[in-house]
Amino acid sequence: MLETSIAEALAGHLRGNLLTPSDPGYDEARLVENGMINRKPSMIAQCSGTADVITCVNFARENGLPLSVKGGGHGVAGKAICDDGLVIDLAPMKGVLVDPERKTAKVQAGARLGDLDHETQKFGLAVPAGMISTTGVAGLTLGGGFGHLTRRFGLTSDNLLAADVVTADGSFLRASENSNPDLFWALRGGGGNFGVVTTFEFQLHEVGPEILVAQTVHLFDDAREVIRFYRDFMDGAPKELGCTCVVSYISPEPAYPEAHHGKLVAKLVALDSRREATEENTPLRELMSFGNPILTDMSPIQYTTLQSAADDAFPKGGRYYWKSQHLRSLPDEAIDRILENAGTVPGEYTNFHFETMGGAVNEVDQSATAFPHRDGAFTFSVPAGWADPSRDEEVIRWAQRLHEAAEPFSTGGTYVNYLQGDAGDEFKQAYGANFEPLREIKQRYDPQGLFDAHQRIEAR
Ligand SMILES: Cc1cc2nc3c(=O)[nH]c(=O)nc-3n(C[C@H](O)[C@H](O)[C@H](O)COP(=O)(O)OP(=O)(O)OC[C@H]3O[C@@H](n4cnc5c(N)ncnc54)[C@H](O)[C@@H]3O)c2cc1C
Repeated sequence: MLETSIAEALAGHLRGNLLTPSDPGYDEARLVENGMINRKPSMIAQCSGTADVITCVNFARENGLPLSVKGGGHGVAGKAICDDGLVIDLAPMKGVLVDPERKTAKVQAGARLGDLDHETQKFGLAVPAGMISTTGVAGLTLGGGFGHLTRRFGLTSDNLLAADVVTADGSFLRASENSNPDLFWALRGGGGNFGVVTTFEFQLHEVGPEILVAQTVHLFDDAREVIRFYRDFMDGAPKELGCTCVVSYISPEPAYPEAHHGKLVAKLVALDSRREATEENTPLRELMSFGNPILTDMSPIQYTTLQSAADDAFPKGGRYYWKSQHLRSLPDEAIDRILENAGTVPGEYTNFHFETMGGAVNEVDQSATAFPHRDGAFTFSVPAGWADPSRDEEVIRWAQRLHEAAEPFSTGGTYVNYLQGDAGDEFKQAYGANFEPLREIKQRYDPQGLFDAHQRIEAR
């Protein structure tokens, strides 16, 4: 009864919908990408704009309600949804405004990467971001954000020019190098600890609409040689090249020979993002002539096609447990240890992969933004995914073992956007030397911890 009257009081002040557990659409709105998360908030406010966000922040603070913020709902830890409180759901706020003259874009915080690419690519422009088009721009940017274009143009957060933020006291602030620079520093890697970002403004770069992409697929028996080749190929490669090395199962797609469906393979997915790149002049040619692949392909494709090519590998509602770390280098010993511990690779949506850092990421000083991992050469990630809840323990243990096998080669850093709910001390490690400055900024903008449903930075 009390809840009903509280919900009515809030609903009367919103332009967007307010969902409570008895409303149609409530379950769809509370479920996130990771099917292991099953939280039940008392209200979900589907905010139509900044005014609704300010109303919700003030309402939660004044009524002592737990509060969480949902962007794209991809965070594996599921922190976008709180139990028994109010969720600010930004899904209706998907506007993207491109300024082709200035090469900038203003992006509302409910937009997905696919929404962003759709608008920017019309002008042959792009923000470097992640590799799955359904991921939210908001969470990804606030934690850093890396993908195919990262070596050339830096992290997504490195390309943030400004953000509009609703802070815990209900103020609406602009954060940029010139306005509230401490908040701006914290938002570039420090996550959702400091307020609700309603709009991001990004620097765009000339990319696409077509981009040269090469892919080679090798049987898992050759994984050792493939990973060594990948390491050597990317060592000193020009910044315009990106390459990811993925071990995963082959899906039953016509592109693959039927005999190999369901087999474990080691894939190299690479791109040459220069507009002038051709099949004849690209360094990617070396990739095509390596080893005994079961499939090779090199061709110019739409950048948006590349950005959504792996979407099906992560079905919504699958069970996910992710581990990740930054590696100083990738010596033969590390590759051997990883492969010895990979075993049979459990989980139909599981992969493990290496992404190449360096380039523009490492040109930024470690203290320039809250994202501190500027010295790694590669990331090693183990996104385990499966459907059957009875396999939870088995798959989680496997992912933890594989992660531990690579630890001796780690910088000690881990990526906050790939942290699981059980992260504990790893969360602190995710920020290294930037953790204490983040705590001070938390004290300034959210001393009472209104935004603590996020991976929490305690105020000082
Ligand atoms: C399938 C998949 C693929 C991925 N691929 C990549 C990749 O290629 N590169 C990469 O860097 N990362 C990748 N990620 C990780 C991704 O960056 C994080 O999961 C990120 O948190 C997703 O953002 P979101 O808005 O979708 O998530 P949400 O779950 O909605 O939010 C994540 C966190 O950010 C907070 N938050 C969200 N919006 C706001 C806001 N507007 N203001 C304040 N706080 C907010 C939430 O409260 C939550 O704590 C991937 C994740 C998945 C599941």
